[in-house]
Amino acid sequence: MTDAPDIVIGSGPAGVSAAKALLARGCRVIMLDGGKTLEAEAETRRAALAATDPARWDGAVREDWMAPQYASPEGQVRRYGSDFAMEPAAATLADPPGWFALRASRAAGGLSNLWGAAVLPYRQEDIADWPISIDDLAPHYRAVADFLPVAGQEDDLATLLPGFPMDGRKPIRPAPQAEALLALLTHARTSLGAFGVHAGLARQAVRADCRLCGLCLHGCPFNLIWKAGDTLADLRADPRFSYRPGAIVTRFEESADAITLHLMDGTTLSAPRAFLGAGVLETARILLASRPGGGEIVLRDSQHAFLPMIQRWRNRTPPDSGTFHTLPQLFVEINAPDVSAHLVHAQLYTWNEHYARDLIANYGRLPFTAPLLTALARRLIVAQLFLHSDHSHRIALSLAPDGRLTASLDANPDTGAILSAATARMAKAMGKAGLIALRFASRPGAPGSSFHVGASVPMAAEPGPGGSDRLGRPTGLSRLHLIDASSLPAIPATTITFSVMANAHRIGTLAP
Ligand SMILES: Cc1cc2nc3c(=O)[nH]c(=O)nc-3n(C[C@H](O)[C@H](O)[C@H](O)COP(=O)(O)OP(=O)(O)OC[C@H]3O[C@@H](n4cnc5c(N)ncnc54)[C@H](O)[C@@H]3O)c2cc1C
Ligand code: SF4
Repeated sequence: MTDAPDIVIGSGPAGVSAAKALLARGCRVIMLDGGKTLEAEAETRRAALAATDPARWDGAVREDWMAPQYASPEGQVRRYGSDFAMEPAAATLADPPGWFALRASRAAGGLSNLWGAAVLPYRQEDIADWPISIDDLAPHYRAVADFLPVAGQEDDLATLLPGFPMDGRKPIRPAPQAEALLALLTHARTSLGAFGVHAGLARQAVRADCRLCGLCLHGCPFNLIWKAGDTLADLRADPRFSYRPGAIVTRFEESADAITLHLMDGTTLSAPRAFLGAGVLETARILLASRPGGGEIVLRDSQHAFLPMIQRWRNRTPPDSGTFHTLPQLFVEINAPDVSAHLVHAQLYTWNEHYARDLIANYGRLPFTAPLLTALARRLIVAQLFLHSDHSHRIALSLAPDGRLTASLDANPDTGAILSAATARMAKAMGKAGLIALRFASRPGAPGSSFHVGASVPMAAEPGPGGSDRLGRPTGLSRLHLIDASSLPAIPATTITFSVMANAHRIGTLAP
């Protein structure tokens, strides 16, 4: 082994996972990164809020924390009152089409500054045609969980998805609505099983000392939702690790003994090998800019949809009072070949502050409807369903003359029918647990808006042009490993990031 440092591009979930694995092997690592951070003013505001007791926060304090998120432009996700973690579409695309909802990040920690923190492993049956199996990923799920907190508990979902055992894990307390629903789902377990439906408590990448302050969708004031920047801070304490924020990679070339990276500031950096985890859009841009003739790279999406449901039972206490979190509360998996050959994954959200606002904005034009809609919002539970990429659209990317990307949509004619079958099955099953699904109000997300997207340079046992080998090396290259979702062979419905991290850790561990 040479003692020249390896280069990791990106400090998102993929980048920090690969860096952890490389350091564990005794390698030295240079991390090149966009490196944007929360502005000092916003960080001061966060720290000031975190220094106070949530029990003392009145409505005005909460509203003040939430206001910037409500005011964020369509398609953008804002946390901590800042846009540092998400690039606007026009920064990445030359002529952003209206349907395009995926965004890149140039932040330290990438999109994990914004994520919903839902974590599940993949299921062997969903990756049966991959060149790696769940047994290849399992030790890396465990290694990642040494630095990624996983809250949750051993339940039916662990039986369905045994790739990451949950023994010894502790859940964060579900909201009272979710507790009541889980009891009903458990009671109806046998009839749900007959529909191929399995339910359990959600698993979130949240520290166990969650304060249940309910501000999760606006940026956790206590920084208890894991973000890759937390692990980056640990990495930076290692003398074998060096970090270069603002080092934007534009392209690369390989020679017989090195890979040379070109940076936006005009400098270059060479190393024996590089691990590219810039997020699927930026990774595509770097790949397209580095190959003669450019060509096209095709992303595969995991289509998602929202299904609102009304609970039949009365709440003992209003769900917007007391302490609770607003991350996904429950997971429901549909394992039914007549719906899909793959698992359909659903995340259930109980009351959050968006519900009444959205209902009033959409249906509250008539006088006196606001109190009615507010009461309805307190009985609303929303399922977010995700499909496997086989049933979802594709997004073709090519390089625009100015170095940004252009995107075109390759719509999947089957998506609507599969979504309809999945929501129908969900509605039927949840009916057994006291929920009335409002299927007429179900709506699919725009392409890319799930942020469960990738499989653009899929790993294969014998990769052809446009593919990569089982260590994420694109065909024709030997020194570049793709460690983000670009190299996944497909996008199963269960959450993406935990598996991206496990795969990046696997590649960092095994790369020759
Ligand atoms: C609102 C939202 C909610 C989500 N919820 C969930 C969820 O609940 N569960 C789940 O599994 N996933 C979720 N995701 C998806 C999740 O955030 C991503 O899967 C994950 O962040 C991808 O990690 P990554 O490291 O591959 O890329 P990113 O997080 O995009 O990180 C990319 C990194 O590369 C750096 N970079 C970018 N371009 C360059 C360049 N040219 N040169 C150098 N460095 C560069 C960036 O600074 C950054 O550090 C969500 C995403 C969003 C936006
Ligand atoms: S409820 Fe959400 S915002 Fe509040 S401490 Fe827990 S994770 Fe953070």
